Amino acid sequence: MDFQDYKGVWVFIEVNDGSISPVSLELLGAGRRLADKRGVELAGVLIGEKIKRLVATIFEYGADIAYVFDQPIFKHYRTESFMKALLQCSNKYKPEIILFGATSTGKDLASAIATDLPTGLTADTTELDVEEETGLLLASRPAFGGNIMATILCKKYRPQMATVRAKVMKALTPESGKTGKIVEEICLLKEEDIRTKVLEIVKATTKKVRIDEADIIVAGGKGLGSQEGFQLIHELANVLGGTVGASRDVVEAGWIEHHHQVGQTGVTVTPKIYFAIGISGAIQHIVGMKNSGLIIAINSDKDAPIFQACHCGIVGDAFKVVPLLIEQFQQALLREEVHHGGKI
Ligand code: FAD
Repeated sequence: MDFQDYKGVWVFIEVNDGSISPVSLELLGAGRRLADKRGVELAGVLIGEKIKRLVATIFEYGADIAYVFDQPIFKHYRTESFMKALLQCSNKYKPEIILFGATSTGKDLASAIATDLPTGLTADTTELDVEEETGLLLASRPAFGGNIMATILCKKYRPQMATVRAKVMKALTPESGKTGKIVEEICLLKEEDIRTKVLEIVKATTKKVRIDEADIIVAGGKGLGSQEGFQLIHELANVLGGTVGASRDVVEAGWIEHHHQVGQTGVTVTPKIYFAIGISGAIQHIVGMKNSGLIIAINSDKDAPIFQACHCGIVGDAFKVVPLLIEQFQQALLREEVHHGGKI
C-alpha cells in the first residue's frame, strides 16, 4: 500500500430528519484542524435523497470539497447501500483519514467500511491529532475501564478511521457565503441488490430527555441512598429548570433510565452548570462532564475525588445541603418574579 496515494481528511456527514447532525459539524471543525496541520483538503461526504441543499452548510463549517450521492435509493440509512457508496468514493479518491460521529449510524457504517477495506478503526475517540510529517492519526480514547487514555495508531493501512463522540470537538463558527468544490457521484446500485428494506419508521412515543443539550444538569449518585432519596435531585433540577443526570451506579440500581447517565458508557455533556451530588467522581464519570462550564460538587466525604474535578465544592450531607439550596433558589426566583412584574 503506497501511502503517498492517500490524501485529504474526510468527514461522513450524517443527516437526520433532513438536517445535518451536530456531531458532523463538530467533526468538520476537528477535521479542519487536522487537514490544516497536514496541508491537505477537508471534505464532507453527503449521502441521501434531496440533500444537495445541505452542501452550503458543509462549506460554511469548514469543508473545501463536498462528495455528494443524491439518489432515491439513499432515502433511508441502510448499512449496505451507504457502505457501497462510501467505499466507492473512498477507493476512487483515497482519503488518508475518515471521521464518523460515534452515533448508532456512524458506528454501524464505520465498522462495516473498516471490515471491507480492510483498515483500522478507533471507536469512541475523545481526542484527535495528527503527526504533521507522517500523517499518522493519533486517536485517543479512555481505555482499561477509563483509568488511562490510550492513543491508537493505524500504521499499516489507509485510510485511517475513527468514530468520535458528540460534544467533545468544537464546530467552527460558520463562515457565511464560503463555498467549495462539489463532486457529484452516482452509485450504480439497484433496490434488489439491497437485502434490507425499510417498511416503516416508528418514532419513539416517550420523549427521551437530551441531557447533552441541557444548560443546567443536576446529577445525582449512589450517595442519595435510594430511589426516594434521588427525588431530591429531581426537585433541585425542577427549581432550576435543569435536567437530571446520574452516575452509572444509579442507573444500574434502576433509580433512573440509562439515557440520563453521564460518563464513559453514558453521555458526554457540556452544560453551563453541572451539579454532582453524592457522586464520588470516578474517572469514568469525570470524562463525561469535565468540560462543563461550572462544576459544583456536594459530597459528605471531603476526600472524594470529585473535589479534584470541580470548580466549587460543598462538603456536607446532601439531605441537609440540597433542601437549603432549593429554598434559596426558590426565594431568589420569587424575588426575580416580583422584580420583573410577574415574569421570571
Ligand atoms: P459511589 O462511588 O458509591 O459514590 C457515592 C458518593 O456519595 C461517595 O463519594 C460518598 O462519599 C457520597 N455520599 C454518600 N452519602 C452522601 C450524602 N448523604 N451526601 C452527600 N454525599 C454522600 N460511572 C459513571 O458514572 N458513568 C459511566 O459512564 C461509567 N462507565 C463505566 C465504564 C466502565 C468500563 C467501568 C468499569 C465503570 C464505569 N462507571 C461509570 C462506574 C464508575 O467507575 C463508578 O463506579 C461510578 O461512577 C460510581 O457512582 P457513584 O459516584 O454514584 O457511587
